[in-house]
Amino acid sequence: IEFVRAAQLQGDEEPTSAPPPSAQAQQKESIQAVRRSLPVFPFREELLTAIASHQVLIIEGETGSGKTTQIPQYLFEEGYTKKGMKIACTQPRRVAAMSVAARVAREMGVKLGNEVGYSIRFEDCTSERTVLRYMTDGMLLREFLSEPDLASYSVVMVDEAHERTLHTDILFGLIKDVARFRPELKVLVASATLDTARFSTFFDDAPVFRIPGRRFPVDIFYTKAPEADYLEACVVSVLQIHVTQPPGDILVFLTGQEEIEAACEMLQDRCRRLGSKIRELLVLPIYANLPSDMQARIFQPTPPGARKVVVATNIAETSLTIEGIIYVLDPGFCKQKSYNPRTGMESLTVTPCSKASANQRAGRAGRVAAGKCFRLYTAWAYQHELEETTVPEIQRTSLGNVVLLLKSLGIHDLMHFDFLDPPPYETLLLALEQLYALGALNHLGELTTSGRKMAELPVDPMLSKMILASEKYSCSEEILTVAAMLSVNNSIFYRPKDKVVHADNARVNFFLPGGDHLVLLNVYTQWAESGYSSQWCYENFVQFRSMRRARDVREQLEGLLERVEVGLTSCQGDYVRVRKAITSGYFYHTARLTRSGYRTVKQQQTVFIHPNSSLFEQQPRWLLYHELVLTTKEFMRQVLEIESSWLLEVAPHYYKAKELEDPHAKKMPKKVGKTREELG
Ligand code: ADP
Ligand code: MG
Repeated sequence: IEFVRAAQLQGDEEPTSAPPPSAQAQQKESIQAVRRSLPVFPFREELLTAIASHQVLIIEGETGSGKTTQIPQYLFEEGYTKKGMKIACTQPRRVAAMSVAARVAREMGVKLGNEVGYSIRFEDCTSERTVLRYMTDGMLLREFLSEPDLASYSVVMVDEAHERTLHTDILFGLIKDVARFRPELKVLVASATLDTARFSTFFDDAPVFRIPGRRFPVDIFYTKAPEADYLEACVVSVLQIHVTQPPGDILVFLTGQEEIEAACEMLQDRCRRLGSKIRELLVLPIYANLPSDMQARIFQPTPPGARKVVVATNIAETSLTIEGIIYVLDPGFCKQKSYNPRTGMESLTVTPCSKASANQRAGRAGRVAAGKCFRLYTAWAYQHELEETTVPEIQRTSLGNVVLLLKSLGIHDLMHFDFLDPPPYETLLLALEQLYALGALNHLGELTTSGRKMAELPVDPMLSKMILASEKYSCSEEILTVAAMLSVNNSIFYRPKDKVVHADNARVNFFLPGGDHLVLLNVYTQWAESGYSSQWCYENFVQFRSMRRARDVREQLEGLLERVEVGLTSCQGDYVRVRKAITSGYFYHTARLTRSGYRTVKQQQTVFIHPNSSLFEQQPRWLLYHELVLTTKEFMRQVLEIESSWLLEVAPHYYKAKELEDPHAKKMPKKVGKTREELG
């Protein structure tokens, strides 16, 4: 692949092509010496003084300067956790929360979960003793339910604020309000060098504390022509860099787990074939669902003579800093949620990243020495096809969850909530409508008893409704399993390239009439009968890790049943009850088969059954789906066959009998849609 050098990202350090300070040397240095070497360290006293004299402080600093790992420690050393008070530090991503907590525990010489811990959904690694709490922004949001004034916290640090996730944005509004009533609460908003003026304005012109970064210049290269297959282009470029460029590790940005695993496999494959013709290349993935021992490996120093390539999602853009990166490879894409408030459809799509994102990525190459960033797109595309910045999540997601939470916190007038950027009016309205249809709000928009219970469960409103409905249909045992399996979605089945046929057969063996939710239930039940065996998973091409996680999630949900007044009952094999309970939550996500394929019932959108579904070939007339994913088409993932009469039974206020009649029923061909082979 041919690259042209087109630009340079200015650094504030003298350009140097000195090799990166060897990672081994760094390890030998004491951990305290490493702490003292971080850009934030010389500002320790000044920073603590600023925090002492202002209630709200915006902290801006280059990624890797030590904001996340050091500032909470400084506060701890300064005594902010005396009298049992805690410090919260939020992260938009689970992996980041886990990884930095582990790092800080090591720096402080304590066991993770004692003084330092993390808390992410369905996983709480904290104890009574934990005073430094790293947590996802969503978890801090849930803390408001049990402690609306955050009374046990002396400091709240909203970190990675520039990411502008939905939860971070909502936290801003809530924390601003709490700060008024608790003058002793310290609020820190930490961000990479983006958007800080806006944060300052939002918090009544709070001062901005800047930590000067250490940045070496980064040369930026573009491809001469657009690349059709960026995954293949990535693999080729990594090898090209490995063979032609001086020492230094490589960081590659891809969009998600599947892509990352594919790229790693391709790289390992080609390295194996090249054998001793090339120097050793260590290929390491990092993404959200990677087990934590594997996550830790990306931080291990590269052995002498070898080179490391880290293949990462956006997580490595600003949340995690890996020492020794000199080369960045950027295909220019990321996975993004988008939401259509007209149709109420949410989908995840691979989209071009923003210029701001591309520049953050490039910046990762200039942390230890002058670096290079190879962009797998043309300079023209950068200029003309990339947006300036990423649209905040609040403007491209459904709001059901957040609206329910705010209502539970007693915030009724959502139109006038203090948003940094308000969500689209239609999205807010639709969320209210959906919560009304689910029975969480009454016609005045007030929280109902059922709505209060739904907010207690840390899952989406539709899933909570399904769990609550299992009481009526006496099948909570099964519904808990379905809920747990849905929450580890899409990583249940294992399909190694060299055993595709065996893996597919194994999967088909789990099929049950009725649909994918029952298949998930079947997998879990058989696994439980095997004594939760890893051997069983191995033999059945099921991912043990995902199953173990499902089991954790299930246990946690089971623990919450009492609070929402649902008893433990089993349907004893009467799956219609399970299907009706699912329908009670997901009656919004329904589709019917028409002469021209599937259409969603209310909005008449064209949708397709995902080829991996157990119902792909059956094409039942009525079905519900768990989610839509847009790849080449709008695919429904996890589908369940239902009867239209159930919709009147579970949601009489939402459906009219007339809508559910099918005028074409008689003329319908037996089978519409293409077979798996035709789809390729
Ligand atoms: P910032 O929040 O300003 O981006 P961090 O506090 O995350 O900076 O990072 C400071 C330093 O700590 C970096 O040099 C980074 O490499 C190191 N670090 C962070 N997490 C880990 C980890 N899990 N293992 C090893 N080093 C880490
Ligand atoms: Mg950070």
